[in-house]
Amino acid sequence: MNYRESMKPNNDGELVIGGVKASDLSKKYGTPLYVMDVAFIKSVCKAFKYTINKCYEGFGAVAFASKAFSCKAIYAIMKKLDMNIDVVSSGEIYTAISSGFDISKAYFHGNNKLISELEFAVANKIGVVVIDNIEEIDLLDNICKKNGVVQKVNIRTNPGVEAHTHSYIQTAKIDSKFGFSIENGDAMQAILKILQCKNLSLNGVNCHIGSQIFDCNAFRLAVDVMTDFILEISKQTGYNVPELNMGGGFGVHYTKNDPKYTLEDYCNYINIIALALKDAIASKGIHKPRLVVEPGRSIVGESGITLYSVGNIRDIKGIKKYICIDGGMFDNIRPALYQAEYEAVIATKCNAPAEETVSIAGKCCESGDIIIDKINMPKAKRGDLIAVFTTGAYGYSMASNYNRNAIPPVVMVENGKSDYAVKPQTFEDIVRNDNIPDFLK
Ligand SMILES: *Cc1c(COP(=O)(O)O)cnc(C)c1O
Repeated sequence: MNYRESMKPNNDGELVIGGVKASDLSKKYGTPLYVMDVAFIKSVCKAFKYTINKCYEGFGAVAFASKAFSCKAIYAIMKKLDMNIDVVSSGEIYTAISSGFDISKAYFHGNNKLISELEFAVANKIGVVVIDNIEEIDLLDNICKKNGVVQKVNIRTNPGVEAHTHSYIQTAKIDSKFGFSIENGDAMQAILKILQCKNLSLNGVNCHIGSQIFDCNAFRLAVDVMTDFILEISKQTGYNVPELNMGGGFGVHYTKNDPKYTLEDYCNYINIIALALKDAIASKGIHKPRLVVEPGRSIVGESGITLYSVGNIRDIKGIKKYICIDGGMFDNIRPALYQAEYEAVIATKCNAPAEETVSIAGKCCESGDIIIDKINMPKAKRGDLIAVFTTGAYGYSMASNYNRNAIPPVVMVENGKSDYAVKPQTFEDIVRNDNIPDFLK
C-alpha cells in the first residue's frame, strides 16, 4: 500500500491522512469524498524546485500542469510556493486569477485554443502562449496587435519520442493531435513564421512525450531531439531559443505494478533531464536555455485518496462478488476511460488480512463503472469505509454529473486541520442551469 508519513494507518489500523482519521473525515464531510494531503503536495513542489535549481544552476522553473487538479485552493498553494502553472482553457485561467494567482506565471496550452480564449488570455496578460498550430500564429499575432502588446510564445513540438505507457495517453507519436512535428519540418516552419511576427516574441520550444512515464531514457532521447532542434534554429536563423520546456508525464504509484518512489526518486526525473541537457549543451555547443518542466500527476496524484461508503454487496456465488460504493465513474472516470488501475483498503481495517477477491463497483448505470476490477480485501460490509489511493490527479478534474450524481466535495488536510477546497454540490447546483423552453410549457 502506498503509505507515507502523512498518510498511513494508526495503531488501530485506521487510515490517517494529514493527521485526521478517515472515519472523522467521513463523519464530518460525508462520502464520497476527495481528500488531499497538502503536506505531500508542498513537499513535492519544493523538492522539484530545489532539484531543478540545484541540477541546473538556478536556471529552471517548475510549472504545475493544473489540468490534473484545478480549483482555487490548489492555485493558492502554487502561489505560496512561487510555482509556475500550466492552464488549458479560459476556465482554468479564470479560476487561477480569481484565486489571486499571478497569471503572468502561466503557460497556456491547447491544441485548439478558441479565439475567445486567446483574447481572454492576452487581455489578462498571460505569461506564455504555447502555440500548437500554424493557424494559431496569425490569430494570436492579430489579437496582440489589437491589444498593442508583444506576447511571449513557445511552440509545442512533437519530437516523435514514444514513451512506454498506455497508448491512450501517449501524445508524442507522429500521428498525435498535439504539436508540430520536428522531423517533417513543420516545427521549423512555425519558428520561421513566429520570428516574422511583430507582436510575438519567441520564448521557447516545448515537448510533452506522454504521461505516467517511468522510462527515463524517453526523457534523455527527447532532450537529444529538442537540443538538436534548438541547434538547428540557431544555425538557420541566428536566434538562440531562450527556453526549453520538457513537459511533464512523470509516473506515479497507483498499484504494486508501478515502482514505489521516494521523493528523491521523483526528483530523479528532473535530475536526469537536467544532466542530459547539460551534456547536450556541452557536446553540441548550444547556448544554455532556461529549463522548464510541467508535472501534473506527480504533484497531486499521490496526495489524493477518495473515501467511499459500502452499500449493496452483490455476491454471484462462485463467479464474482461486487462491493458497491456510493461513488463511481462520476468522480473517477479513469478506469472506464482507459482501464486505469488502483489500490484500496477498508480505511478502518488497513492491517486486516485479505479474505476474498472482489470488484469495487460504482453506482452509475454503466457496466463499465468499476473502480477496481479485482482486489483482495478483508470482508467488507455495508457502511464500511473504502479508501482508494492515488486519486488526486485527473479524478476531480474529470468529474461529471453523470446520472445527476453530485460531484463530491474536495477536502484538504494538513497537520490535523481539514477544510473544503471544493464544497459539495447541492440539488440546487445540479439544476442551476436547467431551463424548460417556453414552447414546452
Ligand atoms: C498533461 C500535460 C502535462 C502534465 O502531465 P502529467 O502526466 O500530469 O505530469 C504537462 N504538459 C502538457 C503539455 C500536458 O498536456
